[in-house]
Amino acid sequence: MRFLIMGPPGAGKGTQAKLIGEHYDIPAISTGDIFRAMQTSNTPLAQQVREIMAAGGYVSDEITNAIVAERLSALDCDPGFLLDGYPRTPQQVETLDDLLAERERVVDAVISLLADEDEVVARLLKRAEIDGRVDDNEETIRVRQHVYAEQTEPLLEVYRHRGVLVEVDGLGPIDEVSQRLFAALDVHVNKPVV
Ligand code: ADP
Repeated sequence: MRFLIMGPPGAGKGTQAKLIGEHYDIPAISTGDIFRAMQTSNTPLAQQVREIMAAGGYVSDEITNAIVAERLSALDCDPGFLLDGYPRTPQQVETLDDLLAERERVVDAVISLLADEDEVVARLLKRAEIDGRVDDNEETIRVRQHVYAEQTEPLLEVYRHRGVLVEVDGLGPIDEVSQRLFAALDVHVNKPVV
């Protein structure tokens, strides 16, 4: 099982990614979490990542692809994985395809978690009060929404053409959304190989 979860900032990807990982017993890998963890060190790279994230931009493909390549080569990814927040650019789609091709694998399903823009902004502002994430202020949230719409949303079409896109409504209680996701993903997990 090799799944991706995509959606605008605030759609609930991180929350649902963890639940999907537990349900299918595969690691849920979030590039955002990896970058946030990196920020605690005091290296030039950590400093660079911190500045990019605080401004709401994307970390370079070079850095992001290298980090994902290393993570996917870990043993726990052999049975499958769910990537949360990757790929976000055409270059990242290409790198992921190459990484999977080396292992004679493909992406089985790509979740597009749908959410209304006003609702996601409201969620992120609420999260700002609780978690204190540096990129959860109104200005950066607007930048992140824009960057997502410009750079990442068009990638959904790539996966739609491959017949692996699964669109799921992200509004409603957390467990209702996960039930919708499991039902949609099961179809792809059990799909016969042709
Ligand atoms: P969200 O999408 O909800 O804003 P994430 O935790 O997925 O939150 O990402 C937070 C930030 O981490 C992004 O705004 C970006 O700066 C960086 N980031 C995460 N994944 C990637 C990626 N695949 N490519 C480039 N930058 C990324």
